[in-house]
Amino acid sequence: MKVLVINCGSSSLKYQLIDSDSEEVIAKGLCERITIEGSMLTHQVPGKDKVEVKSPMPDHKAAVSMVLDMLTSSEHGVISDLSEIGAVGHRVVHGGEKFAKSVVIDDDVIKAIAECNDLAPLHNPANLIGIEACKACMPNVPMVAVFDTAFHQTMPKKAYLYGLPYEYYEDYKVRRYGFHGTSHSFVSKRCIELLNLDPKNSKVIVCHLGNGASISAVLNGESVDTSMGLTPLEGLIMGTRSGDIDPAIMEFLANKLNVGIPEIMNILNKKSGVAGLSKIGSDFRDLGAAADNGDELAITTLDTYSYRVAKYIGAYAAAMNGVDAICFTAGIGENNTTVRNKVSEYLGYLGVVMDESKRDFRGEEGELTAPDSKVKVMLIPTNEELAIARETVALV
Ligand code: AMP
Repeated sequence: MKVLVINCGSSSLKYQLIDSDSEEVIAKGLCERITIEGSMLTHQVPGKDKVEVKSPMPDHKAAVSMVLDMLTSSEHGVISDLSEIGAVGHRVVHGGEKFAKSVVIDDDVIKAIAECNDLAPLHNPANLIGIEACKACMPNVPMVAVFDTAFHQTMPKKAYLYGLPYEYYEDYKVRRYGFHGTSHSFVSKRCIELLNLDPKNSKVIVCHLGNGASISAVLNGESVDTSMGLTPLEGLIMGTRSGDIDPAIMEFLANKLNVGIPEIMNILNKKSGVAGLSKIGSDFRDLGAAADNGDELAITTLDTYSYRVAKYIGAYAAAMNGVDAICFTAGIGENNTTVRNKVSEYLGYLGVVMDESKRDFRGEEGELTAPDSKVKVMLIPTNEELAIARETVALV
């Protein structure tokens, strides 16, 4: 079956058409600046040149129409007819406590996703717009919602509760949800497979280090803790997000800068993290280049970032009373050997022995530890689109 995977943001839409039998990408692309002047579609068929089309996309339905036209076009298309698309899988960021698994989308599901909107006001409404746009263009094709939060719904209460008055959980569902669930699930399963661990007796820590970053503790195949919380702001230091801070900093800075909560949130989400710390930016390639040139702040930023990752690994090893394997994934986890090597320096106490010949290994699946290492360190590229396609096929 050919599955169209859609990841819809407020002004962007990423897509991949995946052949679920061979698990190969047939075509993929990105619509940018939807609803904004200068809309553009970039479409790519593996092995061929990228195609860029600049054309107005006044709304997401226009974007979906353009994608479908491109997929079926005589020049750049990959299918002759829309009937070849057997199902659509949508990434949905927040499923609250309502969704512990992926679901086939119907009117009730759409309503339930909308009820989670205030938990992810920037993401869920955009995801719903993508669902409605696909429904309008392909009314008879089954669609599945795959939630970023679902994999973490197995967390025990002690891991998801905050030290706040309990009625905020009861009344407003203020608790840890966690995100990147599709990636944590995909990578932990692949790790168990690769290392031939017993799925029902395994302890895996997944470090998803991308522009957004989170760590999870996966005990016997189930998430038992994760670093992101009610929102993706908590936990690790990220590209532009602060991660964990003393909450009192918010009032302190609001007074110093004479700004309100919205501006403080903007600072914490968009101006902090490694971008804010380094004064350089959020891209680790730029940070690495600056550090190589002796930029003190870039070096300190990489140290601070890696230290936070190492602290979470320690916390999750404690939470599971041990660990069999630690996995690195996503843009930085898969490619940035500096961060990975810095984090690894903290892991000796766990019995980790790194394979020195793998210090520069990157970009592909592999084990990074020596044969006598008590705990394995793995590089496992994530593939959230493939995971969404698999979930979609399983449900339709
Ligand atoms: P993601 O959100 O998973 O796409 O990850 C984005 C981050 O990965 C950015 O900070 C990039 O700098 C980093 N990244 C991607 N490719 C590389 C690479 N080849 N070398 C170092 N960092 C990379």
